[in-house]
Amino acid sequence: MGEDSLSGSTRLLRAGRPHVGWVNTPVTRASTYVFESVSHWRQTRTVREEQRVASYGARGTDSTFALEDALVELEGGHRAQLFPTGQAAIANVMLGLLQPGDHVLVTDAVYEPVRRFCAKHLARLGINVEFYMPDGSDLAARLRPETKLIYAECPGSLVFEMIDLPAVAELARRCGCLLAVDNTWGSGLLYRPLSLGADISVLAATKYLSGHADVMMGALVTNERAWKAVHLASVDFGQTVGADDAYLVLRGLRSLAPRMAMHERHAMLVAQWLEQQPQVTRVICPALPNHPGHELWRRDFHGTNGLLSVEFRSEYAQADVEAAVDRLRLFGVGASWGGFESLVVPTDMAKARTISDWSQRGRVVRLHIGLENPEDLIADLRQAFRSLEA
Ligand SMILES: *Cc1c(COP(=O)(O)O)cnc(C)c1O
Repeated sequence: MGEDSLSGSTRLLRAGRPHVGWVNTPVTRASTYVFESVSHWRQTRTVREEQRVASYGARGTDSTFALEDALVELEGGHRAQLFPTGQAAIANVMLGLLQPGDHVLVTDAVYEPVRRFCAKHLARLGINVEFYMPDGSDLAARLRPETKLIYAECPGSLVFEMIDLPAVAELARRCGCLLAVDNTWGSGLLYRPLSLGADISVLAATKYLSGHADVMMGALVTNERAWKAVHLASVDFGQTVGADDAYLVLRGLRSLAPRMAMHERHAMLVAQWLEQQPQVTRVICPALPNHPGHELWRRDFHGTNGLLSVEFRSEYAQADVEAAVDRLRLFGVGASWGGFESLVVPTDMAKARTISDWSQRGRVVRLHIGLENPEDLIADLRQAFRSLEA
């Protein structure tokens, strides 16, 4: 039976490990590698940009190579590169591919710290950043001859806007620019941007891949076209990860499929309950039929995760909503998501988007539905929402 005929969840359990030997690649904590001879040392240095060989800890160890192999398998890419955070991976995409005078189109649905990175650092380097609508409707009109990169995130952060990625990929190909997609939401299991025509898939492994809220990591998985520039930039910027962290992410990844299925099941139960609450205008999740991107989600995704956002009736002020959030006992108030635990965070959508208009909408709170019993989560939400009834 060929590996290609296996299902995604089976491949996830086999990826990045040998058929014979230790089931898990031993943790290789390393900086220096000692060579047999000067010629061996020299020969390694000539091939290490192209081939994966042991040469120096920063260039990778058995532990990081095993995780990279698993991510390549997951995303269907050519090669993968690890970074200490998801944000570092994103910065590496931008700085590795763009030069002064270049133009980059960034989705208005982007993860907020990327917006600040663009404003502070790309602007300083003379790289022109322009935002486009989360649904991509104005993308073609915004392309310029000097556009080198389209940066997407699908679904978008906080309210999960969808984009027709194959159509964007076609546009990018026609204009000769690269397409990078933040795939943290789909984490390679629910969405595979490279198979839809993207050049680079960005992963915050901090989230679902690790799954246990105990490690920070980012990764880029690229096709052959984008690999060299991205990889060489990561070497020049000194980006690497430790073997223990790589081990933790690979360990987390083995249970990604069953965890994700459980997050999905729990999130859908909580969403059904939320939709019936009088305080709620809308439950926002692309898996729900009233989401504007639902059809794209059905076409391009293999499921949903534990994320839901709740838009409250517009008569509630931010302070009312935050008081309800403070009453929650099972949802921790905290950034990030993708761990086993439930989380909640209030958002400021008017600030999180610059060209999409959220001024007429209600307050939005983002939930991450964890692996706790969903009945307990619903009971917690019910008691917290009581403060909004008056
Ligand atoms: C969390 C997140 C990141 C950044 O990951 P870190 O590891 O926290 O730096 C990037 N993109 C998205 C969509 C995220 O949710």
